[in-house]
Amino acid sequence: MTRQTAMQSNLAALPEVRVSNVECILVDVPGKRPHQHAATGMRHQSYLIIRVRTDAGIEGIGEIATAGGPWWSGDSVEAVKATIDSYLGPALIGESATGVLVAMRKLDRVAAFNWFAKAGLEMALYDIAAKSVARPLHVLLGGPTRTSVPITWPLGTGDAAADSDEALQRIDAGIARSFKIKMGSLPVDKDVARAVEIARRLRDRAELRVDLNAAWTETVAQRHLPALVAAGIALIEQPIERWNLAGHARLARRLNAPLMADESLATSRDAAAMAASQAVQVFALKLMKSGGYNACRDIAAVATAHGIALFGGCFLESSIGTAANLQLGATLPELSWGSEWIGPLWLADDLVAEPVRYENYSACVPAGPGLGIELNEDKLTFYRRDKNPVVAAAVPH
Ligand code: MN
Repeated sequence: MTRQTAMQSNLAALPEVRVSNVECILVDVPGKRPHQHAATGMRHQSYLIIRVRTDAGIEGIGEIATAGGPWWSGDSVEAVKATIDSYLGPALIGESATGVLVAMRKLDRVAAFNWFAKAGLEMALYDIAAKSVARPLHVLLGGPTRTSVPITWPLGTGDAAADSDEALQRIDAGIARSFKIKMGSLPVDKDVARAVEIARRLRDRAELRVDLNAAWTETVAQRHLPALVAAGIALIEQPIERWNLAGHARLARRLNAPLMADESLATSRDAAAMAASQAVQVFALKLMKSGGYNACRDIAAVATAHGIALFGGCFLESSIGTAANLQLGATLPELSWGSEWIGPLWLADDLVAEPVRYENYSACVPAGPGLGIELNEDKLTFYRRDKNPVVAAAVPH
């Protein structure tokens, strides 16, 4: 058998499986402690769980999460549910679930943008495709290049002493020795003083980064970022507005620490524009903001071509979305800034039978078929918003 024939027979071995039903369920899961972003605080995380059923009896699971509401990208789990229920879900009925690229091309014709919605649906289709051959998704994607991914823990209580204590606990527990200080919610002077104080308390114990969530202007960043770098901050994430690539490039040239793009980066076109303008040295990859695996792999290719490093970002996913992230991480050639795939550790509960495992400052890539997780039906029933209005009313929006 020639190599070409062997490849064809392998591809042909992916069973023909057609989508018969798409169901979206909103859930609200409590967190262990508040999480402060530049624009909002979170005590719960809301997810849109997508169940894609097929004529073969294989079910694919997708999960959509945002940064606690539409402030980050305009997407909210409620709006995504409406778009899937009315447009994207019906368009998938009858499509081949194992022909993921063709199915996703159809969805691109049905709805422009809507990267979060498409990421959740693509996740469920890839779960089906990998389950149809009883393999973990990373095998289907050509991996694995690694079996675990190092963790950066976000510090988001807003208080220097509480953040430092939390970091020391995480170091002692073997969870993380790299930390990302969430900034942008306090007045600039107080925010900088808080970050410098955390750096002082954790000196020689941890690697520290900051995430401004685009809260500053270029002039504020120009004035205050050098103090953070002098305090030992190793990486500056999205200091200024998402559209201001030239501003990022000017800051990047002046600073003695790399900049990372998060809000500025959704598509591979964004990645190409940032590479061309030399705006940043690191890209934050996220399935949600970019529309899924294929988009992230395109962005990773742009990064590789320009010597830009990669980091795995998150929206505090449950073990479902975290497993999906780890399937991506398991296939990337480069992931030198690790990941913040810590959602299951931040949550007070989870939605799966076996939560994602963490050991030796890293998240472990699940080895089971598909995404490598199994829904816990009791937990899904308990946390679904339409059956649990008390929890829903407590969710900050
Ligand atoms: Mn970020």
